[in-house]
Parts: sequence; structure tokens; C-alpha cells
Amino acid sequence: MFKNLAVWLVIGLVLMTVFNQFNTRQVTQASMEYSQFMEEVGRGSITKVVIEGRVLKATTSDGRKLTTYAPPDLWMVSDLLKHGVKVEAKPEEEQSFLMNIFISWFPMLLLIGVWVFFMRQMQGGGKGGAFSFGKSKARLLDESTNNITFADVAGCDEAKEEVAELVDFLRDPSKFQKLGGRIPKGVLLVGNPGTGKTLLAKAIAGEAKVPFFSISGSDFVEMFVGVGAARVRDMFENAKKHSPCIIFIDELDAIGKARGNVMVGGHDEREQTLNQLLVEMDGFDPSVGVVILAATNRPETLDPALLRAGRFDRQVLVDRPDVNGREAILKIHAQKVKMAADVNLAVIARKTPGFSGADLANVVNEAALLAGRKSKSEVEMEDLDEAVDRIIAGLEKKNRVINPKEKEIVAYHETGHALVAAFTPGADAVHKISIIPRGIGALGYTQQLPTEDRYLMTRRELLGKIDVLLGGRMSEDVVFGEISTGAHNDLQRATEIARAMTLEYGMGKTLGLSTYPRQNRPMFLSSEQAPFIGKEYSEATAAKLDEEVKELITERAVAVKELLSQKRALLDRIASELLHQEVMESERFNEIIGGTAEPGIAPKAGR
Ligand code: ADP
Ligand code: ZN
Repeated sequence: MFKNLAVWLVIGLVLMTVFNQFNTRQVTQASMEYSQFMEEVGRGSITKVVIEGRVLKATTSDGRKLTTYAPPDLWMVSDLLKHGVKVEAKPEEEQSFLMNIFISWFPMLLLIGVWVFFMRQMQGGGKGGAFSFGKSKARLLDESTNNITFADVAGCDEAKEEVAELVDFLRDPSKFQKLGGRIPKGVLLVGNPGTGKTLLAKAIAGEAKVPFFSISGSDFVEMFVGVGAARVRDMFENAKKHSPCIIFIDELDAIGKARGNVMVGGHDEREQTLNQLLVEMDGFDPSVGVVILAATNRPETLDPALLRAGRFDRQVLVDRPDVNGREAILKIHAQKVKMAADVNLAVIARKTPGFSGADLANVVNEAALLAGRKSKSEVEMEDLDEAVDRIIAGLEKKNRVINPKEKEIVAYHETGHALVAAFTPGADAVHKISIIPRGIGALGYTQQLPTEDRYLMTRRELLGKIDVLLGGRMSEDVVFGEISTGAHNDLQRATEIARAMTLEYGMGKTLGLSTYPRQNRPMFLSSEQAPFIGKEYSEATAAKLDEEVKELITERAVAVKELLSQKRALLDRIASELLHQEVMESERFNEIIGGTAEPGIAPKAGR
């Protein structure tokens, strides 16, 4: 409405200026000098003069119109009368006066208009009026309009199990408390975009039949300091009024980035917002029944304060689905369109490794559009195939698709890790092998579980760790005769262990028992950061140490390669099954190798 007003103002101004121009031009065209005019009067050729302020409009005896501008001439009127001119007087032109006022006020009006316009813009056109900055922009999904349940979420059964408890709690907070359940305050959903984090959060609200407030972390980040903090406060107040309910914060990393490592502006504002969030989370009593869910795909960038007890102390991984999960997701979305009888979703699931739930929803949608374009009444297999191809093409641009050859390499790589672990005495048991890509850079992973808590490690065990890490790369070497860049992180970690052995644990030949502990390092083997090595030994010793580390790694690599060559049959068998199933649990793995690896609890992932 204000925008319209501004437009009308501009149009009005332009019209008036043009009109005015036209007017004055008329005046100037017919005007003459005053002295000339008086001469005409003297000659008696003027019959009538209309005086408007200083402007004289004269009519000649032959009907011409003349205009002139009069100087202050006291005798002018009497001169005119003396020559028999009819004199008429009018007040000065009103219009130009109004016009003047308008012109002088216009810049002001324009400024006010622009200001109002920006104020509205900044609030995203909300209907709250011009001064509701601090109001949270959380969108409310009412229990009556939210009909999403766990049945709508597939392919992440572990995550569903983990959040099921929240539903019980939200259904009846007081009862839950009486039973002595620990009340969860904040739960962090971690997973790649499109894996269904928002969907899962909505499903929790839908199952528990409670209101669902959702807001994106980036909504809090405003250009004015203090606005984000005010919004957080407002959101919590609002939520408490509607309890039991769920607050869902998408893109938590937008506000929750670790503090103190940003040097540019805007950092104060984010910090304030984050602090306010922490204060609010600490401040409320969980028994009111407000559960805060947040989603992120980069948990490692979050401020550690957010993950402390009483805040987002529980993390739920929402992973990309495996073959079976993909089929289940496709089934859910296929219900919304009419599928031909011969459509086999299992086949589509096989063709879409690495697809997220959102990608799969997209496949069904795209297929329906393709079928519609061909005026079919049902979606057929060929439409689905084409849709998959299209979406793969789209994802390829974003570098998110692995081709079949890469997938095979990854399968052998991970199988290599697993087999070496299985045949290395004292190595941690294999828990799970997966070739579902997760995150950037990690194409698959092998999970090992320590069979017991360890505080000491023998030389033999450390060598075993190096062997397992090298297993991936050596497997690629054995099978394909070449190696890929995928093993980069493995090698780094293997080298680090080898260095630690020679430098810190006194297990090397060069230094013997004299060691050089490194600084700034957490517990051994857990560090992924580049170690800081002080110069406490000579260059010659350093060279010797490097040589020794290299020797050790090479020696282990040869041993591992030999082991894998011996187990080639197993390697092929497991890798090909992995290629089809994408995930292999310890039971199946042990069944194939015919050994016994005991399942444990604490997972330790790594590629
Ligand atoms: P995220 O919040 O993790 O980025 P969303 O929950 O917004 O992902 O997912 C977007 C859409 O993709 C959902 O609305 C749903 O249609 C589909 N989708 C994603 N994951 C799943 C899943 N696990 N099961 C069924 N549909 C899914
Ligand atoms: Zn690896």
C-alpha cells in the first residue's frame, strides 16, 4: 500500500512538472520586454491588460495575446489607463504556490516512503506492523493441521526408535516424570540435507498431537544487534504458553557456530542470539513439556556450549537410507500418485545409491510429471527410470553422485579394512560396514567396536591398528592394481600412529627409550589434528625418524597386502555382497568369514 502511494507520488510529480513546463513555455513564448510592451501601449495597440501579481497579460487590438513581466512601476496602472487600456487585476496564480510547497516537501516524503518500505522489507512483510522486530518468526503448525506421523518417515529406523521416547513424554509430561524418566530438553538431529530431519520432527509432533513451532536458525540473524536475542526470548515465551509442544530450529549452525572464531562484523549479533538461546534453554523447567529439536548437517562447527548437559545433549543421526530404506521411502511417496502394476520400486531403490529421502520424493514427483506430459493415466517404470536419470544429472552437477566404478572401489576398500580387522589378533571387532556415502569426502565406513575398555596398548596392537587402516588401500591395490585418493585420511592416521610409536612410546629403533612427548594432544590415537612437534632433536635425528616411520608403514603395507591376497576369495565375496546390500552388519560378516567377532557397544567410525 505504501509502495503504491510512493508510485502515485512520483507519477503526480512528473505530471505536474510537465504541465508546469508547458505553462511557463506558453508564457515565455508570447512574452516581450516591459519597455517594448509600454511602447505598444503608447502606440495604442493594447486594448486590455490582466494583472496577476507581476505578470501582465495583454490583448492587442488585432486580437494577439502578449505577456510581460512588470518591474515595480508605481505609474504603470495610470499610464495604462491614460492610453485607454482596460485594466483587470487577479490574485497571483494559486497553483504554482501549491506546486512550490509540493516540490519542497517531495524529497522529505520520498525519504519517509523509502524508510517505511525498508522497515517492511526487513520484517519480510509480516502483518505485525512496523515495530514488531523482536517478535519471533516461528511458524506454528497446529496439532489439528499436522497429520504427519512416523508412518510417513522411512529409512531411518534407528533415529525413529531414539525419538520415540519423546512422543511418550510429550503426550503426558507429568506422568513421564512420575515414572522417573529423564526428561530430554534438547535433541540434535544430525544428517545431510534432505534426509528427513524436519519430517521426523514434525512426525514427533504429529504422533504426540502437540503444536509444532518451526524456525530456521538464519531467521534469527538480523542486521540489528539484539533483534535475534529478542526473537529467541519471544519464541520461548510463546512456546511455554502452548506447552506441551515442540520447538524445531532448522540450520542450528547459522546461530550456533563456535564463538570467537569470526573476526568480521555481525559476529556480536550472532553471539548475543546464541547466548540468549543458551540462557533460555537453561532457564526453563523441562516439566513444562517443551522439547527443543534442532537440525544441522555440520555438528562439528557448533559451539561446544550448545552440546553440554541440559542443552542439546542428545544427538540423533538421521542418515541417508540404504537400499531397503530407499524402497520404503519410495513406497511412501508412491502412494500419492497412481503407479502402474508392473512398477518395481526395489529396482529403483537399487539404482539410487546415495539418494536422500528428498531426492527420492523428487524421483516420484518427476516421474508423475513425465507421465502426465505423455498423457498417461499411470506412472510406468520408464518414467521412473527417466526421472532417476534426470535427478542423477542434477546431482552430478553438485558432485553428489558416485558412479558404479567408484562404488565398487569403495566396496573393496571397506571390505579390506574389515577383513584385516577380522584377521588381526587383538584388533577391534567389525560392527558394521557401509558404502552409503555420508558427508563430504567419506564414501563409506567400517565400524569397529572395542571388545573391552583399553587403557594400555601393546606394540602389537598398535601395529594392528596401522594394519587395519592400511587395509582399505591395500585392498584397492590387490584388486585393481591401482589406488585411489579415497584412502587419504587412513594414511594420515596410520602415519600418525607410526610417528607416535617411534617418538612418544619408545617403540622405535632410533630413539630407543628416550621420548619426545608432543604438546597439545588429547589421548593417543584419538587426535585427528596435525600434531605439533617441537624442535627438540637435531635435523639428523629428524631425518632418521622420518625414515623409520616410512619403513614401518611400508613393512606393514607389504604384510597387509599379502594377507589380503591370501583372502582374495573372501574379499570378492564380501565386496560383491556389500555392493548389493550397501550395508553389512557384524552377524552377516562373521557368517561369511566363519569366525567369531563379539559385538560391543561404543562405535568408532572411520574410513
Ligand atoms: P531435512 O530437514 O533433513 O533437510 P526434510 O525433512 O525437509 O529434510 O525432507 C524434505 C522432504 O523429503 C520431506 O518433506 C519428504 O517428502 C522427503 N523425505 C525426506 N526424508 C524422508 C524419509 N526418511 N522418509 C520419507 N520422506 C522423506
Ligand atoms: Zn578407509
